[in-house]
Parts: sequence; C-alpha cells; structure tokens
Amino acid sequence: MADLVIAQFGGARRRLIEELVEKGIGDVSVLKAFDDVPRHLFVPSGLHHRAYDDAPLPIGFGQTISQPWVHAKYLQLLALTGTERVLEIGTGSGFQTALLTRLAGQVFSIERIPELADEARQSLQSAGIEQVVQRVGDGTLGWPEHGPFDAILVGAASPDLPGPLLDQLAVGGQLLVPVGGRDEQSLVRVRRTETGFTRSTLDVMRFVPLIGTYGFKE
Ligand code: SAM
Repeated sequence: MADLVIAQFGGARRRLIEELVEKGIGDVSVLKAFDDVPRHLFVPSGLHHRAYDDAPLPIGFGQTISQPWVHAKYLQLLALTGTERVLEIGTGSGFQTALLTRLAGQVFSIERIPELADEARQSLQSAGIEQVVQRVGDGTLGWPEHGPFDAILVGAASPDLPGPLLDQLAVGGQLLVPVGGRDEQSLVRVRRTETGFTRSTLDVMRFVPLIGTYGFKE
C-alpha cells in the first residue's frame, strides 16, 4: 500500500517519503500529510536546499525544526482519524502543527518564544493553513480552557510527565512526551483509561529542553 502512495509523489518530497517508509512509517495518511505540506515553507530560507533531508534544522533562538522521522513517528503512534482535539506543546517552526491539521479535527498549539510563534503563524498562512489556534506561553501548564484533549504532543524534552497535561487528557486520549535528561530521552506514551493511566516507553530521542513550570528550569 505504501508503495502505491509513493508512486504518486514527485519531486523533492518523494525521496524523503521513501526514506520515511524505509524507516518504518507505513501509515498512508501520515505519508500523505508529508506530501501535502511543503516543509521548505517552515525552514529558514537559507536552508531550503536541506528542507527535505531527514534531519533536524536550526530555526533560530537555539531551537530546531524536528527530524521528519520524529514527526512521522509521533503521528503514526497517535493514529488520528480526523475528528480529534489535539494540543501541541512547542509549536517551533509550525511544521508538525501543519501536519496535524491534515490528520486531526481541531489543533491547538503553544510556543514559549514569541518570535517563533509569529514566524510559525506566517509559515502556516503561507501554506494556506488558518484553522490552528495558537498561543504564546508555558505549555507545561496545558490549555485547560480548550481541554480535555484526545491527544497531547510535546515536542521538547521533559524531566518528567507534566501533571497538568495528564489532567487535560480525555478518557481514551494519549500523551506523547520525551522524558529524560537534557541530552537524551525516551519517548513515553501515556493513555488515559476510565480508571487511570497506562504508560509505555518507546524510542530513544534527542530534543531541545522543555522549559517551564513542569519542565526544566531556564
Ligand atoms: N515540532 C516543532 C518543530 O518541529 O518545529 C518542535 C520545535 S523544537 C524541537 C521545540 C519547541 O518547544 C521550541 O520551539 C521551544 O521554544 C518550545 N518550548 C520549549 N519549552 C516550551 C514550553 N514550556 N511551552 C511551549 N513551548 C516550549
């Protein structure tokens, strides 16, 4: 099935999508989202030639747009069906935010660095995406006014599970967050059940730190 989808893709994105498939991404809706959203609109203009490398890239303020495989892995784990209410912590470039609009119902995104939030807003606009609700602030506190959420994605490394994010998960909802030290983390998936939470530990990841009340100190 994934082969059929790859055959439709042309140009610079095709190589990246093939690479994602080779690295274990088989969810066709996730691959299609990568085909729909031009990643070069979300990287600084001087790095356009590297926009379709499977690599993180600097976006200023000491931050990065994550590696495409990491975004794809998150989205494949979430297995969104198009109806979900999703909260993203760490808008960064806005690229994963854009991918989420292709896969979920409503997308809320929080970024702590105002300049990055502004740039992400402009990149989303240039990609023709207007349905994202964005805010500047400490994402470790979540966004209770808009919860509960069917999925919460944290795109930065946390020393532990941020309590407010657990509280804002809907029953049946999932939280994905890299937990560990500043240099290396394990991706943790938490699911909320009727009676509590289940937790599983997945791939090793390397993210910039989550800075905030329930994250690392600045
Ligand atoms: N998915 C994004 C992308 O690929 O562009 C991730 C960007 S970067 C790896 C992580 C982002 O999290 C950075 O922009 C950083 O400023 C932001 N961040 C760190 N701590 C945060 C917090 N407490 N609340 C909101 N954003 C935070």
